[in-house]
Formats: sequence, structure tokens, C-alpha cells
Amino acid sequence: MSDPVKRVLLAKPRGYCAGVDRAVEAVELALEQHGAPVYVRKQIVHNKHVVETLEERGAIFVDETDEVPPGALVVFSAHGVSPAVHAQAAERELRTIDATCPLVTKVHHEAKRFAREDYDILLVGHHGHEEVEGTSGEAPEHIQIVESAEDVGGVTVRDPEKVIWLSQTTLSVDETMQTVHALRERFPALQNPPSDDICYATQNRQVAVKAMAAQCDLVLVVGSTNSSNSVRLVEVALQAGAGASYLIDYAREIDDAWLDGVRTVGLTSGASVPEVLVRGVLDRLAEVGFDSVEEITTAEETLTFSLPRELRPSRASR
Ligand code: SF4
Repeated sequence: MSDPVKRVLLAKPRGYCAGVDRAVEAVELALEQHGAPVYVRKQIVHNKHVVETLEERGAIFVDETDEVPPGALVVFSAHGVSPAVHAQAAERELRTIDATCPLVTKVHHEAKRFAREDYDILLVGHHGHEEVEGTSGEAPEHIQIVESAEDVGGVTVRDPEKVIWLSQTTLSVDETMQTVHALRERFPALQNPPSDDICYATQNRQVAVKAMAAQCDLVLVVGSTNSSNSVRLVEVALQAGAGASYLIDYAREIDDAWLDGVRTVGLTSGASVPEVLVRGVLDRLAEVGFDSVEEITTAEETLTFSLPRELRPSRASR
């Protein structure tokens, strides 16, 4: 008997979003225009391969601005920074390039606006994630972080009639709505954000993985363990019916045992993952018989963002 057909369903959209593309290009251009070293506060985007590649070209990743020599050039990552970080950089007379994704900046603006209007702001997101630290740093006295529906019992507000929720941009849409539902049961007047805070790229990648998960014995998600949107894709795949799902940085991390008895592998990648890593996984799968690849398209993405202000004039003159 011949082998049952082994196939790969490839999610589209997957991989780089507009904010990541812009942030990575910002570091590349900074290196071209100013020469190495260029300091980057935190990982420019949460992907091991991207960070290592930029390090090889002369980027130096630091945790805080006090590790950057006075007067040097530092890039702020796509996840955004709090006003305190801008102030520290100014104190050290650092030259800065702000690669914060415009969709994160939008959430910062919402936080500032509702803090000015004296709301209690419930920020749905993960404690310790850089984006959440940056957003909550805009108005720490007004913002409480709510990680999940389980946290809701511990939330207290000054005026239950004046409460709004905002969120991290890279959460699971379904889990966030469960948390919001629990918050609204406690605070019926809870207001919604003026527009979706979970960004288009996060939502689109979750929709694409949901569309194929039930047909897949295994879903592989290419992405790093500190990438929130990548980790969410594994969870979404499992919730949507995938037999199993794993997060991998590289093709070499695929364990042959995962493929035992598998006919259909779903493949996707997080918003910080370059396509070359997905190609590596496709090549590895083809070597073991998964050479039929079908792309499952649920949306076309055309959004692009202009480069950070600090890089625009020099780019125009290239
Ligand atoms: S995942 Fe969304 S918020 Fe984050 S960089 Fe990409 S577009 Fe911006």
C-alpha cells in the first residue's frame, strides 16, 4: 500500500507585520547611516534570528538606557517605551530613534487621553511584557494590569461609572473577550476602547490558523518563546482543534516523533518572524514526505508604515 498523502497547509497571512518590518528596517538603516555600533533597547522585535542577524551587523542590544554610553545612538523597540525611558535617554544625552509600532503608540495615546479624563483604565495584558510596561508607564496612577478573567475579582476602581479597558496589541482575541466579559459583569458601565487595540496582524494570524487547525494533526508555529503573538497562535491552534501544536524557532527543532502518524501539518509564523525561517521548515518537511503545500488565505495585508521620523530625511536623500 502506498503512503497516505502527506500535506502541509500554510496559513496566510503569517510572518512579518507592518510594525516589525518598519522596526527591523529602522535598525538596518541606522547601521547604514551611522555605522556600528547602534544600541537597541530590548530586543527590537521578539525573534531570536532577527536579533542575532542584527547583532552580527553591529547592533548591541541592552536592557536599559543606562547601559548605553552617553551621546550614543539608541533605537527603541517596536514594543514601545514609557515616558520615563524617554526622560532617562534625554538625561544621558542619547540620540534616539523611536521604532515603536504606530499601533502601540495609538494605545499610548488612548491611555493618556483617558487618564487625563480621570478614568480608571484596566489594561488587559501580560505583567512584565515590554509593551505593557511602556503603556502603563504613560499613566501609572490610572492604570491597572488585568492578566486574565481570574484576576478580575481583585480589581478595585474609584468610580465604577468611569472605567475603560484597553489592551496589549498581541493577545488572543477570544481570551481577551472572556476577560472583558468578566470585567463587565463586575463593572457594567465598563467602556470599550475607541477602536480595537489587538492589532490587525495579531487578529489576522489568529483567523488564518483557526481556519485550518481542525484539519491538522499538527500545527507548527514558527516564533520565539518571548513573542506574545506567536505563543497565542499555538493556543489558538489547539483551541480550534489541532491535534497538537508546537512553537519552534528553527526547522532543526522539529522532533521526528511529532510527525508519527501525521498526515496534515499546518504551518504559520508569528508577526516577528522572517519568511526565510518558514521556508526552512517547508524544506525540512519536504525531506520527510510533506511536499504537497496548500496555502490557506483568509486575508490580504497591504498595510505599511513610514519609517521613524529620525530616519526619513536621510532616506529620501539616498
Ligand atoms: S504585532 Fe501589531 S502592534 Fe505589534 S508590531 Fe506588529 S502591527 Fe504593530
